[in-house]
Amino acid sequence: MEQEGDVPHVLIFPFPAQGHVNSMLKLAELLSLSGLRITFLNIHRIHQKLTLHSDILSRFSRFPNFQFRTITDGLTPQNRTLGMFSDLIRRLNSVTKPLLTQMLLSGELGPNPTCIILDGLFNFIVDVDAQPKIPVFSFRTISACSFWAYSFVPMLIEDGQLPIKGEEDMDRMIDGVTGMENVLRCRDLPSFCRLKDPSDPTLQHGVTQTIQSLKAHSLIFNTFEDLEGPILSGLRRRCPNIYAIGPLHSLLKSRLSGEESPFGSESFNNLWEVDRSCLAWLDAQPSKSVIYVSFGSVVVMGDGQFREFWHGLVNSGRRFLWVVRPNSVAGEDGENGILEELEKGTKERGCMVEWAPQEEVLAHEAIGGFLTHCGWNSTLESIVAGVPMICWPQFADQQTNSRYVSEVWRIGVDMKDVCDRETVSQMVNDVMENRRNELMGSVIETAKLAKTSVEEGGSSFRDLERMINDIRLLCRQQREAIH
Ligand code: UDP
Repeated sequence: MEQEGDVPHVLIFPFPAQGHVNSMLKLAELLSLSGLRITFLNIHRIHQKLTLHSDILSRFSRFPNFQFRTITDGLTPQNRTLGMFSDLIRRLNSVTKPLLTQMLLSGELGPNPTCIILDGLFNFIVDVDAQPKIPVFSFRTISACSFWAYSFVPMLIEDGQLPIKGEEDMDRMIDGVTGMENVLRCRDLPSFCRLKDPSDPTLQHGVTQTIQSLKAHSLIFNTFEDLEGPILSGLRRRCPNIYAIGPLHSLLKSRLSGEESPFGSESFNNLWEVDRSCLAWLDAQPSKSVIYVSFGSVVVMGDGQFREFWHGLVNSGRRFLWVVRPNSVAGEDGENGILEELEKGTKERGCMVEWAPQEEVLAHEAIGGFLTHCGWNSTLESIVAGVPMICWPQFADQQTNSRYVSEVWRIGVDMKDVCDRETVSQMVNDVMENRRNELMGSVIETAKLAKTSVEEGGSSFRDLERMINDIRLLCRQQREAIH
């Protein structure tokens, strides 16, 4: 029989943002289902929102070896403003890091963690020199292709291809990123490459965290072999151990569907209140007639851009379901001034909500396309649901993701760096009609591959099993080293 000390204890710590928390909670649930002891560490304010808008407390209470813990990110309501990424990073480093070190030293989290599954966006937060030394599994919640592009940035700077110069031709092909020679243009590089100063803290942060992830004990990706196999092979030559265990939401769903659980096979981790009324609206729409529009949890657009999207959608003549998060439109009018004007025009063929149950929406029979910012969770959710995409990437990995969606996987079209009503309406009609047959061939094929990867014997299923076995082995080795 398994003794108390034989059960590995995994500390999981996500970066404080919706997409990161979402995928790491899915992993936490999968590891809990396999009987591991889990401590999930959240930033206070994120935990508060989660407990308000999701069922995480009751859902995880079915695991006796699971606990939530919280920690501060050093931000106060006064200094917590949007767009202050480098300030957040500074505070996480100066305030959160010492608190975490103290937490680990004091033993207040329970038995010493066997390993930490740490969000690779802030590898720095674990003091690798502190005792006891705990192996770090760096979890990158972005695509492997964008991570690969990140890893070449120092070479591109040295080579003079970066930073991007004033009057740069953004369509110039990038040289020297192995495997991406005829794919990557200047505009498809991760957004921080657009910064003019190579010593900019955000650019430097991207570079250093990528290098640190490559040096971690293991590297975890929410992706699957049949989607990003060649990139994963390249990465395996540059770091000790990789687990490709995505799409995590699909892997979890498939595991839960075999479980006797009062929570069913759905698990949602929302930071905003979900408006489920849009599902009833979708029920009343014809099959594959609606374009779903959402730009994720972080993107803020100008009121001019918002107007262009709206006119484009209305002019396309298609039905649409649009998520407009509170405070996600900036400018003099904000969303309120425009919304009034738009609401009238939208009633006929549109529905607007502040936050949607996205996985359910994408799986709905009425959805025919997804206008997205190409965040990695949204991209994977669209792939699994078999929905073609129109990509309007804004930052971080999204620029590279959208290039892969349109040119490599051929499951959507790329609207990068453009925002006018003619293009919006043209692309909506391309995806819904003009180029639909061509796109749907690869969309359906990719969805099938995603599903196979998470079924028993599939590549992601096996990689998760391997990861759990490796963690159990680590635990035994650590115990033997003590005795
Ligand atoms: N999401 C949602 N409802 C919405 C909009 C987004 O549930 O109305 C979820 C979506 O399903 C995804 C996450 O929020 O899991 C957004 O993550 P992503 O990586 O796509 O983008 P980010 O928000 O990090 O930019």
